[in-house]
Amino acid sequence: MGIIAIYPGTFDPITNGHSDIIARASQLFDQVIVAVAASTAKNTAFSTDERVELAQQVLVQHGNVEVQRFEGLLAHFVRACGAKAVLRGLRAVSDFEYEFQLAGMNKRLVPEADTIFMPTTEHYSYVSSSLIREIASLGGDVKEFVHPIVNAALVERVGKRINASKP
Ligand code: ADP
Repeated sequence: MGIIAIYPGTFDPITNGHSDIIARASQLFDQVIVAVAASTAKNTAFSTDERVELAQQVLVQHGNVEVQRFEGLLAHFVRACGAKAVLRGLRAVSDFEYEFQLAGMNKRLVPEADTIFMPTTEHYSYVSSSLIREIASLGGDVKEFVHPIVNAALVERVGKRINASKP
């Protein structure tokens, strides 16, 4: 079966920064499971099914990458998959403190898996889903930062919002 890595996140929506991490990880691990969090405290722009579907479409060319939704605790999902690694991307030092705490807690909850940090490719260091959503909602062009399918989904979603907010 080989070594499985789980790449968990909200992916609201998946960006080129995420795809870059996933492409690089797919060279290192036998299988990468992109785990889309269904239970999130965040108020997401896209539903869990939409976030999963967008990631699946964007990542279709990677034979050893799979997208799955997960509910509840990540540690339970990691164990159920038999994964040895939890993959997280680091963009800046400011990401580190929270990520380090999360890694420590996950190690405690699921000792058989380790967190692996991958540094972002420099030109994606300022790309985040939240910033992408904000720019798109203000009518900015984000096609440099996301897959064309995601760009289309954002334009459609934002367009609807703008129309809905008109009196
Ligand atoms: P979460 O809500 O768990 O932070 P995200 O969907 O925002 O989930 O991100 C998932 C993972 O991808 C996190 O480890 C995050 O640090 C990483 N990530 C996000 N954007 C980038 C990027 N541009 N380059 C590298 N890693 C990134």
